[in-house]
Amino acid sequence: MSKTSKNYIAGDWVEGPSSIANTNPSDTNDIIGQYAQASSAQLDDALNSAHIAQRQWAATGLEQRQAVLMKIGEEMMARSAELGELLAREEGKPVAEGKGEVYRAGQFFTYYAAEVLRQSGDTADSVRPNIEVDVRREPMGTVAIISPWNFPTATASWKIAPALAFGNAVIWKPANLTPASAVALAEIISRQEIPKGLFNLVMGSGGSIGQALVESPKVHAISFTGSYDVGRQIARAAAQNLTKFQLELGSKNPLVVMDDADIDVAVAAATGGAFGSTGQKCTASSRLVVHQSIHDEFVERMTASTSALKVGHALEDGTQIGPAASAEQLASNLDYMQLGRDEGCEVVCGGDALELATPGHYMQPALLIGGDNAMRLNREELFAPMACVIKVADYDEALSVANDTDFGLVSGIITQSLSKASHFRRNAESGCVMVNLPTAGTDYHVPFGGRKNSSFGPREQGQYAKELYTQVKTSYISSGNP
Ligand code: NAP
Ligand code: MG
Repeated sequence: MSKTSKNYIAGDWVEGPSSIANTNPSDTNDIIGQYAQASSAQLDDALNSAHIAQRQWAATGLEQRQAVLMKIGEEMMARSAELGELLAREEGKPVAEGKGEVYRAGQFFTYYAAEVLRQSGDTADSVRPNIEVDVRREPMGTVAIISPWNFPTATASWKIAPALAFGNAVIWKPANLTPASAVALAEIISRQEIPKGLFNLVMGSGGSIGQALVESPKVHAISFTGSYDVGRQIARAAAQNLTKFQLELGSKNPLVVMDDADIDVAVAAATGGAFGSTGQKCTASSRLVVHQSIHDEFVERMTASTSALKVGHALEDGTQIGPAASAEQLASNLDYMQLGRDEGCEVVCGGDALELATPGHYMQPALLIGGDNAMRLNREELFAPMACVIKVADYDEALSVANDTDFGLVSGIITQSLSKASHFRRNAESGCVMVNLPTAGTDYHVPFGGRKNSSFGPREQGQYAKELYTQVKTSYISSGNP
């Protein structure tokens, strides 16, 4: 029997009434461990202790807050090889991607450590004589953080770091599919000099503990990254209590390839953007919108680059594409392959489940052609190592296809024309635009987020994060003699 990892509640590691097993998707015989599921009474303990701890934390000196965040970040970066391997083992991403994710997660902490000291507000003269106005930001209070399994450490870190930096307490509900990396991060935070109860880890299913968390009137702000359907559910719960919230959801990102594209850049961007992280990312380019005059050459080159990708065990040297993160995800991927065929696409390569030396949720990355933008395949988020080529006649059609989606996280264009690149940047209906780059791959010091059904509420990352994690207070101070 493997050991059961605990939840971190009110400053203590506590057992739960039940636990779940964490399975390696590269080798389902490998059970990483058991993970305690928090009860609703434990959630309440977390919320009550957070309320008290937050006041102490907000009153803690800025340099102490900064030092705590810096230490967390530095430890994550220093241990990125070890923690990245654990992440790769439980999620299925190639180990190099796992290490990169943990390192980046550390950078979110060191970045927000510095933000702690960026203290500035506004002052103004009142319209009335002898009265001054002071405008400053204060913490929200207790923040609920709900994160997905696909970037379990990075998404959580880009929420936890600013939440703490701006003086809040945190209740974190990670995805049940990836609890090991959550416990690892919580363990680092638990060793810092912070008030007991400031940071809490509550593992459990979204439908039970996640739902109870977002419905609690003891929560003052919610940051959620995950699927559209769950996001709407959270919005309903938040509206009921008038809790401030932010949603980062799915997408259906287009990569436009123009006739004047550098074909090497186009193929590299499309291959990485569509199949990196096994296609399991909100920034994946599952729609390749390609100018007709370059279409055949692009498809030929993409077929070669897609077929050459090495699918394998996440921890094995040379693996470029890991397994799907779960049996359900693989089943969904194969269903979408069938849908693509039924809707009339031609599969030029990949798309079948693979049996390798270890039992895992493997699939050969797939390139489909002959797609049009009305197909369900090209309207729904796949979260799979699949991309569909949509042939277009010219730039105007490319832009209109790119924008014809319910989502709007990232749009990309590959072109050597400055005027087309500029026009696209201005007219793409998405929160992020990439020119001659893959749709995936963003920085941490600038805002990240989407439009339409991809996002709701304030932007995450960079200085924009303060819009969610702080609230503004306007004070009027009379100097007397009115
Ligand atoms: P998900 O099923 O929506 O789950 C996300 C989180 O919400 C998990 O922790 C889940 O818990 C929890 N949850 C589920 N139901 C809940 C409820 N009723 N109340 C509160 N919490 C609940 O998404 P996923 O399958 O983990 O992740 C994939 C999705 O995330 C994709 O749509 C992807 O595009 C999106 N994503 C977006 C971004 C972005 O920044 N835009 C980044 C990464 C991923 P359990 O899973 O443990 O039950
Ligand atoms: Mg899920």
